[in-house]
Amino acid sequence: MQIKKVKTQGFCFGVAITVKKAEEAVENRSDVTTLGHVVHNPQMVASLAAKGLKNAKSIDEVDSGALFVRAHGLPVDIFQAAASKGLEVIDATCPMVTKIHRQAEKLRAEGYKIVVVGDPVHPEVAGTMSHVPGAWCIETVEDVEKLPRASRVGVVVQSTYSEARFTDIVRALVAKYYEVRSVNTICTDTHNRQAEVAALAEQVDIMIVVGGKTSANTKHLAELSEQRGARSYHIERPDELDKSWFTGQETVGIASGASTPGFLVDEVTARLEGWFVQHAA
Ligand code: SF4
Repeated sequence: MQIKKVKTQGFCFGVAITVKKAEEAVENRSDVTTLGHVVHNPQMVASLAAKGLKNAKSIDEVDSGALFVRAHGLPVDIFQAAASKGLEVIDATCPMVTKIHRQAEKLRAEGYKIVVVGDPVHPEVAGTMSHVPGAWCIETVEDVEKLPRASRVGVVVQSTYSEARFTDIVRALVAKYYEVRSVNTICTDTHNRQAEVAALAEQVDIMIVVGGKTSANTKHLAELSEQRGARSYHIERPDELDKSWFTGQETVGIASGASTPGFLVDEVTARLEGWFVQHAA
Protein backbone atom coordinates (compact mmCIF):
# COMPACT_ATOMS: atom_id res chain seq x y z
CA MET A 1 0.00 0.00 0.00
CA GLN A 2 1.36 3.38 -0.97
CA ILE A 3 0.47 6.33 1.27
CA LYS A 4 0.39 9.83 -0.20
CA LYS A 5 -0.36 12.98 1.77
CA VAL A 6 -1.44 16.35 0.46
CA LYS A 7 1.06 19.09 1.31
CA THR A 8 -1.23 21.36 3.34
CA GLN A 9 -2.05 19.65 6.61
CA GLY A 10 -2.92 20.65 10.16
CA PHE A 11 -4.26 23.99 11.34
CA CYS A 12 -4.60 26.85 8.87
CA PHE A 13 -2.93 30.04 10.09
CA GLY A 14 -6.26 31.53 11.26
CA VAL A 15 -7.09 28.56 13.46
CA ALA A 16 -3.49 28.36 14.71
CA ILE A 17 -3.69 32.01 15.84
CA THR A 18 -7.09 31.45 17.46
CA VAL A 19 -5.92 28.39 19.40
CA LYS A 20 -2.75 30.19 20.53
CA LYS A 21 -4.74 33.24 21.68
CA ALA A 22 -7.26 31.03 23.50
CA GLU A 23 -4.46 29.14 25.27
CA GLU A 24 -2.79 32.39 26.30
CA ALA A 25 -6.11 33.82 27.51
CA VAL A 26 -6.94 30.87 29.77
CA GLU A 27 -3.37 30.81 31.10
CA ASN A 28 -3.77 34.37 32.34
CA ARG A 29 -7.36 34.37 33.61
CA SER A 30 -10.12 32.00 34.63
CA ASP A 31 -13.15 33.89 33.30
CA VAL A 32 -12.84 33.52 29.53
CA THR A 33 -15.96 32.39 27.66
CA THR A 34 -16.47 31.62 24.00
CA LEU A 35 -19.79 31.39 22.16
CA GLY A 36 -19.98 28.01 20.44
CA HIS A 37 -16.91 25.91 19.83
CA VAL A 38 -13.62 27.70 19.22
CA VAL A 39 -12.73 25.32 16.37
CA HIS A 40 -14.65 22.57 14.56
CA ASN A 41 -12.62 19.88 16.21
CA PRO A 42 -13.81 17.97 19.28
CA GLN A 43 -10.27 17.08 20.45
CA MET A 44 -9.16 20.72 20.49
CA VAL A 45 -12.44 21.84 22.06
CA ALA A 46 -11.95 19.29 24.87
CA SER A 47 -8.31 20.28 25.34
CA LEU A 48 -9.17 24.01 25.66
CA ALA A 49 -12.09 23.26 27.99
CA ALA A 50 -9.73 21.25 30.20
CA LYS A 51 -7.46 24.31 30.36
CA GLY A 52 -10.38 26.42 31.57
CA LEU A 53 -12.08 27.92 28.50
CA LYS A 54 -15.79 28.23 29.23
CA ASN A 55 -18.45 27.80 26.60
CA ALA A 56 -21.83 29.52 26.33
CA LYS A 57 -24.61 29.19 23.77
CA SER A 58 -25.63 32.83 23.93
CA ILE A 59 -24.24 36.20 25.04
CA ASP A 60 -27.19 36.30 27.51
CA GLU A 61 -25.35 33.64 29.54
CA VAL A 62 -22.17 35.75 29.85
CA ASP A 63 -22.34 38.50 32.46
CA SER A 64 -18.71 39.03 33.41
CA GLY A 65 -15.12 38.34 32.44
CA ALA A 66 -13.84 38.13 28.88
CA LEU A 67 -15.61 37.13 25.69
CA PHE A 68 -13.34 35.19 23.36
CA VAL A 69 -14.18 35.65 19.67
CA ARG A 70 -13.18 32.64 17.58
CA ALA A 71 -11.74 32.63 14.03
CA HIS A 72 -15.19 32.76 12.37
CA GLY A 73 -15.94 36.09 14.08
CA LEU A 74 -19.27 37.10 15.58
CA PRO A 75 -22.20 39.23 14.43
CA VAL A 76 -21.98 42.97 15.09
CA ASP A 77 -24.84 42.91 17.62
CA ILE A 78 -22.93 40.44 19.81
CA PHE A 79 -19.94 42.81 19.95
CA GLN A 80 -22.37 45.58 20.90
CA ALA A 81 -24.00 43.45 23.61
CA ALA A 82 -20.56 42.53 25.00
CA ALA A 83 -19.63 46.23 25.15
CA SER A 84 -22.85 47.18 26.90
CA LYS A 85 -22.27 44.42 29.48
CA GLY A 86 -18.74 45.68 30.11
CA LEU A 87 -17.13 42.43 28.94
CA GLU A 88 -13.55 42.48 27.79
CA VAL A 89 -13.42 41.21 24.20
CA ILE A 90 -10.51 39.03 23.09
CA ASP A 91 -10.96 39.14 19.35
CA ALA A 92 -9.34 36.25 17.47
CA THR A 93 -11.36 36.72 14.28
CA CYS A 94 -9.24 35.45 11.38
CA PRO A 95 -7.90 38.36 9.27
CA MET A 96 -9.28 36.60 6.18
CA VAL A 97 -12.78 36.72 7.67
CA THR A 98 -12.40 40.40 8.59
CA LYS A 99 -11.38 41.00 4.97
CA ILE A 100 -14.70 39.48 3.81
CA HIS A 101 -16.58 41.93 6.06
CA ARG A 102 -14.63 44.86 4.61
CA GLN A 103 -15.15 43.70 1.00
CA ALA A 104 -18.91 43.31 1.55
CA GLU A 105 -19.16 46.74 3.20
CA LYS A 106 -17.18 48.33 0.36
CA LEU A 107 -19.42 46.81 -2.33
CA ARG A 108 -22.49 47.96 -0.42
CA ALA A 109 -21.11 51.49 -0.14
CA GLU A 110 -20.58 51.45 -3.91
CA GLY A 111 -24.29 50.76 -4.40
CA TYR A 112 -24.32 47.01 -5.04
CA LYS A 113 -27.02 44.75 -3.64
CA ILE A 114 -24.99 42.25 -1.63
CA VAL A 115 -25.14 38.50 -2.15
CA VAL A 116 -23.30 36.37 0.40
CA VAL A 117 -22.65 32.86 -0.86
CA GLY A 118 -22.43 30.30 1.94
CA ASP A 119 -24.23 28.25 4.52
CA PRO A 120 -26.81 30.61 6.09
CA VAL A 121 -26.57 28.95 9.50
CA HIS A 122 -22.77 28.95 9.62
CA PRO A 123 -21.46 31.42 12.23
CA GLU A 124 -19.02 33.03 9.81
CA VAL A 125 -21.82 33.75 7.33
CA ALA A 126 -24.04 35.12 10.11
CA GLY A 127 -21.16 37.46 11.03
CA THR A 128 -20.71 38.63 7.43
CA MET A 129 -24.46 39.18 6.99
CA SER A 130 -24.51 41.39 10.07
CA HIS A 131 -22.06 43.81 8.40
CA VAL A 132 -24.30 44.31 5.37
CA PRO A 133 -27.92 44.51 6.59
CA GLY A 134 -30.42 43.54 3.90
CA ALA A 135 -27.95 41.29 2.06
CA TRP A 136 -29.17 38.11 0.43
CA CYS A 137 -27.62 34.80 1.41
CA ILE A 138 -27.63 31.93 -1.05
CA GLU A 139 -26.11 28.47 -0.96
CA THR A 140 -26.86 26.81 -4.29
CA VAL A 141 -27.26 27.61 -7.98
CA GLU A 142 -30.99 26.89 -7.59
CA ASP A 143 -31.21 29.71 -5.02
CA VAL A 144 -30.18 32.23 -7.70
CA GLU A 145 -33.50 31.79 -9.51
CA LYS A 146 -35.42 32.69 -6.35
CA LEU A 147 -33.58 36.00 -5.83
CA PRO A 148 -35.53 39.22 -6.43
CA ARG A 149 -34.74 41.65 -9.21
CA ALA A 150 -31.83 44.07 -8.93
CA SER A 151 -29.57 45.79 -11.42
CA ARG A 152 -26.18 45.55 -9.71
CA VAL A 153 -25.18 42.76 -7.36
CA GLY A 154 -21.94 42.49 -5.40
CA VAL A 155 -20.89 39.01 -4.31
CA VAL A 156 -18.68 37.68 -1.52
CA VAL A 157 -18.33 34.08 -0.39
CA GLN A 158 -17.77 32.13 2.82
CA SER A 159 -14.02 31.64 3.37
CA THR A 160 -14.22 27.84 3.30
CA TYR A 161 -16.71 27.41 0.48
CA SER A 162 -16.31 25.02 -2.43
CA GLU A 163 -14.61 26.87 -5.30
CA ALA A 164 -16.36 24.80 -7.96
CA ARG A 165 -19.78 25.54 -6.47
CA PHE A 166 -18.96 29.24 -6.11
CA THR A 167 -17.95 29.43 -9.79
CA ASP A 168 -21.28 27.85 -10.82
CA ILE A 169 -23.23 30.31 -8.66
CA VAL A 170 -21.40 33.33 -10.07
CA ARG A 171 -22.08 32.06 -13.58
CA ALA A 172 -25.81 31.85 -12.76
CA LEU A 173 -25.76 35.37 -11.26
CA VAL A 174 -24.06 36.76 -14.37
CA ALA A 175 -26.81 35.18 -16.49
CA LYS A 176 -29.51 36.81 -14.35
CA TYR A 177 -28.25 40.31 -13.50
CA TYR A 178 -27.11 43.23 -15.60
CA GLU A 179 -23.99 43.86 -13.52
CA VAL A 180 -22.26 41.41 -11.19
CA ARG A 181 -19.19 42.31 -9.18
CA SER A 182 -17.81 39.18 -7.57
CA VAL A 183 -14.96 39.02 -5.06
CA ASN A 184 -13.61 35.52 -4.47
CA THR A 185 -13.15 35.64 -0.69
CA ILE A 186 -12.42 31.93 -0.35
CA CYS A 187 -9.23 32.03 1.70
CA THR A 188 -5.85 30.92 0.38
CA ASP A 189 -5.64 27.98 2.76
CA THR A 190 -9.01 26.63 1.58
CA HIS A 191 -8.02 27.20 -2.05
CA ASN A 192 -4.75 25.30 -1.58
CA ARG A 193 -6.35 22.37 0.23
CA GLN A 194 -9.07 22.00 -2.41
CA ALA A 195 -6.58 22.18 -5.30
CA GLU A 196 -4.25 19.66 -3.63
CA VAL A 197 -7.06 17.23 -2.77
CA ALA A 198 -8.51 17.44 -6.30
CA ALA A 199 -5.10 16.59 -7.77
CA LEU A 200 -4.31 13.79 -5.32
CA ALA A 201 -7.77 12.20 -5.61
CA GLU A 202 -6.98 11.40 -9.23
CA GLN A 203 -3.89 9.43 -8.17
CA VAL A 204 -5.22 7.36 -5.27
CA ASP A 205 -7.84 4.65 -4.76
CA ILE A 206 -8.98 5.84 -1.35
CA MET A 207 -8.81 9.20 0.40
CA ILE A 208 -8.91 9.62 4.16
CA VAL A 209 -10.00 13.14 5.11
CA VAL A 210 -9.34 13.94 8.75
CA GLY A 211 -11.40 16.59 10.50
CA GLY A 212 -14.38 17.46 12.65
CA LYS A 213 -17.71 16.15 11.38
CA THR A 214 -19.17 19.66 11.66
CA SER A 215 -16.28 21.28 9.78
CA ALA A 216 -17.59 22.73 6.50
CA ASN A 217 -14.20 22.83 4.82
CA THR A 218 -13.44 19.20 5.75
CA LYS A 219 -16.81 18.08 4.36
CA HIS A 220 -16.10 19.92 1.10
CA LEU A 221 -12.71 18.18 0.82
CA ALA A 222 -14.30 14.74 1.22
CA GLU A 223 -17.00 15.58 -1.37
CA LEU A 224 -14.43 16.94 -3.81
CA SER A 225 -12.21 13.90 -3.44
CA GLU A 226 -15.15 11.56 -4.07
CA GLN A 227 -16.14 13.58 -7.16
CA ARG A 228 -12.58 13.22 -8.47
CA GLY A 229 -12.75 9.45 -8.27
CA ALA A 230 -11.28 8.44 -4.89
CA ARG A 231 -13.49 6.52 -2.47
CA SER A 232 -13.43 8.96 0.42
CA TYR A 233 -13.87 8.61 4.15
CA HIS A 234 -14.28 11.57 6.49
CA ILE A 235 -13.01 10.62 9.95
CA GLU A 236 -12.35 12.53 13.14
CA ARG A 237 -10.02 10.08 14.88
CA PRO A 238 -7.59 7.30 13.88
CA ASP A 239 -9.67 4.65 15.66
CA GLU A 240 -12.45 5.22 13.10
CA LEU A 241 -10.24 3.71 10.39
CA ASP A 242 -11.45 0.30 9.24
CA LYS A 243 -8.87 -2.08 7.77
CA SER A 244 -11.48 -3.60 5.44
CA TRP A 245 -11.76 -0.29 3.53
CA PHE A 246 -8.31 -0.93 2.07
CA THR A 247 -8.73 -4.51 0.87
CA GLY A 248 -7.46 -4.83 -2.70
CA GLN A 249 -6.49 -1.13 -2.89
CA GLU A 250 -3.02 0.08 -3.79
CA THR A 251 -2.86 3.74 -2.88
CA VAL A 252 -4.35 5.83 -0.10
CA GLY A 253 -4.32 9.62 0.19
CA ILE A 254 -4.49 11.62 3.42
CA ALA A 255 -5.92 15.12 3.67
CA SER A 256 -7.19 17.23 6.56
CA GLY A 257 -9.39 20.22 7.25
CA ALA A 258 -8.28 23.66 8.41
CA SER A 259 -9.21 22.99 12.05
CA THR A 260 -7.58 19.56 12.30
CA PRO A 261 -4.56 19.46 14.62
CA GLY A 262 -1.41 18.09 12.97
CA PHE A 263 -1.02 15.39 15.62
CA LEU A 264 -4.27 13.72 14.47
CA VAL A 265 -2.97 13.52 10.89
CA ASP A 266 0.26 12.01 12.25
CA GLU A 267 -1.69 9.42 14.24
CA VAL A 268 -3.78 8.46 11.20
CA THR A 269 -0.62 8.15 9.11
CA ALA A 270 1.10 6.05 11.78
CA ARG A 271 -1.86 3.69 12.02
CA LEU A 272 -1.94 3.17 8.26
CA GLU A 273 1.83 2.68 8.14
CA GLY A 274 1.51 0.15 10.93
CA TRP A 275 -1.09 -1.81 8.94
CA PHE A 276 0.44 -1.71 5.49
CA VAL A 277 3.90 -1.82 3.98
CA GLN A 278 4.65 1.58 2.50
CA HIS A 279 6.36 1.43 -0.91
CA ALA A 280 6.94 5.17 -1.43
CA ALA A 281 6.31 8.47 0.29
S1 SF4 B 1 -10.01 28.54 6.97
FE1 SF4 B 1 -9.23 30.46 6.11
S2 SF4 B 1 -10.64 32.03 6.86
FE2 SF4 B 1 -11.00 30.21 8.12
S3 SF4 B 1 -9.67 30.51 9.88
FE3 SF4 B 1 -8.49 29.35 8.37
S4 SF4 B 1 -7.32 30.90 7.21
FE4 SF4 B 1 -8.98 31.95 8.31
